[in-house]
Amino acid sequence: MLQTPLNLFSLFDYSQRIYPKKWIVTRTSTGMHRYQYRDFGRRVRQLSAGLQQLGLQPGERAGTLAWNDYRHLEIYFGVPLMGSVLHTINLRLSADHIRYIVNHAEDRVLFVDAGLLPLLEPIKDQLPQVRYIVVMGDHPDVTKSPIQPAIAYEDLLNQSTPDIIYDPNLAEDNVLGMCYTSATTGNPKGVQYSHRGIYLHSMAAGLANTLALSESDTVMPIVPMFHVNAWGLPFSSVWFGANLVLPGPAPTPKDLVELMANEGVTVAAGVPTVWLGVSRILEAEATRLPLRMALCGGSAAPPALIRTFEDAFGVPFAHAYGMTETSPLASFSRLKSGLQDLSADDRLAIRATQGLLIPGLELRLVRDGEEMPWDGASAGELWLRGPWVADEYYRDDRTRDSFQDGWLKTGDVATIDEEGYIRLVDRTKDLVKSGGEWISSVDLENALMAYPAIFEASVVGVPHPKWDERPLAFVVLKEGKSATKEEILAHLSKNFAKWWIPDDVIFLDEIPKTSVGKFLKRALRDQYHEYLMPSQE
Ligand code: AMP
Repeated sequence: MLQTPLNLFSLFDYSQRIYPKKWIVTRTSTGMHRYQYRDFGRRVRQLSAGLQQLGLQPGERAGTLAWNDYRHLEIYFGVPLMGSVLHTINLRLSADHIRYIVNHAEDRVLFVDAGLLPLLEPIKDQLPQVRYIVVMGDHPDVTKSPIQPAIAYEDLLNQSTPDIIYDPNLAEDNVLGMCYTSATTGNPKGVQYSHRGIYLHSMAAGLANTLALSESDTVMPIVPMFHVNAWGLPFSSVWFGANLVLPGPAPTPKDLVELMANEGVTVAAGVPTVWLGVSRILEAEATRLPLRMALCGGSAAPPALIRTFEDAFGVPFAHAYGMTETSPLASFSRLKSGLQDLSADDRLAIRATQGLLIPGLELRLVRDGEEMPWDGASAGELWLRGPWVADEYYRDDRTRDSFQDGWLKTGDVATIDEEGYIRLVDRTKDLVKSGGEWISSVDLENALMAYPAIFEASVVGVPHPKWDERPLAFVVLKEGKSATKEEILAHLSKNFAKWWIPDDVIFLDEIPKTSVGKFLKRALRDQYHEYLMPSQE
C-alpha cells in the first residue's frame, strides 16, 4: 500500500475541495459572524503566511487564549499546517498556571482574544520566550496589550498573501498540538498530539458506531476549544464537511439554547453541568431543539439527566468518556442492537455507563498487577493504548506514574460487563475508602441527582477515626424546591447498603467547579477535611 502520511494537510485539503460551501457560524460579542469553508481556507493560508513572516518556525509552539470562534478555528489549522504546534491554553487557569504553561511549552507567539488581555497583566514580565502577541477582535487596540510587540490578528492576515504552499508530506509523527491537563498536585502536565493521532481520532468520530458525524450535521462544540481540542470536533467537522456553530465568548445556557434552535444544530457537545444548565432553560420555556445528539462527557452523565433530555425534551442523549491524554475519545455509550428489547430502566442503565471502547483502541482492567475479568462486578484501573493515546507527559517526571509497558494508566477505576460496557466507579483518588471497602462517589451522586428536588450533588470522602474515610454528601436544591437531610438519606437507603449511606448532607448554593465545569471535589475535600460527622459527635 502507499504510505501517504496521515496529516492535517490531507484533512484540510479534502475539506476545501469537497465542502467549500459549508458554513461556519460564530456568536460574537457584537452579533453573528458567518462565512463559508472556502473563505475559512483562504484565511487559514493567510494566517500561516503571516506567521511565517513573523518568523514562527516548524516545531515551535503558538499558544492561544481564546473562546470558541472562527479565528480560533483558523489557528487550529493555520499553525499545524505550516508544521508549527497549536498550544491551546485554558483561560480559566490561575495566572500562575498560565505562566507555567506558556513558559514550559516555550510558546513563541500568543494569540489572545482582546477581552482576555487582562489575563496577561499579572504575568507580563514573566514570559521571556514569547516574541509576539496577536490580538484577536474586530478592531482591537493593540496598545492595550500588556506584552509588546502586539499585532492585530486582522492586520497579520491582511499584510500577508494566501499563496503559501503547504507540504502535503508533512510527517505524520510531527506534533500537531498540545494541551495541559490539571494535576491533583503540582503544575499542569502537557500532552502532545501528533498529526497521525488527530487524523485517526477524527476518523473515529465519523464511525456509525460512535458519533457518526457527517456532512449532514451542524455541530456545536460547547466544550471549550482550550480543552482537549473541543473533543476533536473542530477537526472532524471540517474534514467531514459538517456546518460548525461556535458559541463565542462566555455563552450562557440561554445563549446556547437560542443558538441550537436558530442555527439548526444537530450535534452539540458539553460537560454535564452545561447540559444541566440547558435543561433549566428548557424546563422554563418550551423551545424544541433540533439536536439528533446531545453529547455529554468529561464527567459522569447522571441517568436522571439522560432521562430528562430524552423523555421531557425529546433529545437523544449520548454519553462518552475520555481524557486529555486520549485526545479525548476513548469510549462511547451506544445500545447494541441485541439489547433494544430490555426494559426502559435497563436500557437507561446501560446508556448511562461510559459505554464501549472506541474501535482502534485497546483496554485492560488492572488491579494489583492482575487483569480483572469482564463480569460487571470486578473493579480495576482502566489502562488504555492506541494511536491517539499519549505515551508521555511533555518534559515531565510524572510520566513515570502514569505510563507503564506501553499503556496509559488512566487513574479511573471501572468495571466492564460481559457485553463490554465500561462503568466508571470512580477516579482512584475520589473513591471513598471506608473500613477497607470502596464506596463509589459517582454512584451516590447519580442517585442523589435522580432525586426530584436536587439540582447538583457531589460526594467526597472525609477522614474518619474509625473507618478511615466516610462519605459526605453536598447538594444544591432546585430553585423553589425543598428537601431535608432525612428525606434525602431515606431516598438513598432504597438503593444502597447501610454503610454506603453518607454520614451527613450539606446544603450549598453551588458546587465548586473546575476550570472546565466539572465538580471540584478537591475544594470540598480541603474545606471539609476536619468535618466532624454526626457519628463522631
Ligand atoms: P480531563 O483530562 O480534564 O478531560 O479529565 C479526564 C477525566 O475526566 C477522566 O480521567 C475521568 O476521570 C473523567 N471523565 C471524563 N469523561 C467521563 C465520563 N463520561 N464519566 C465519568 N468521568 C469522566
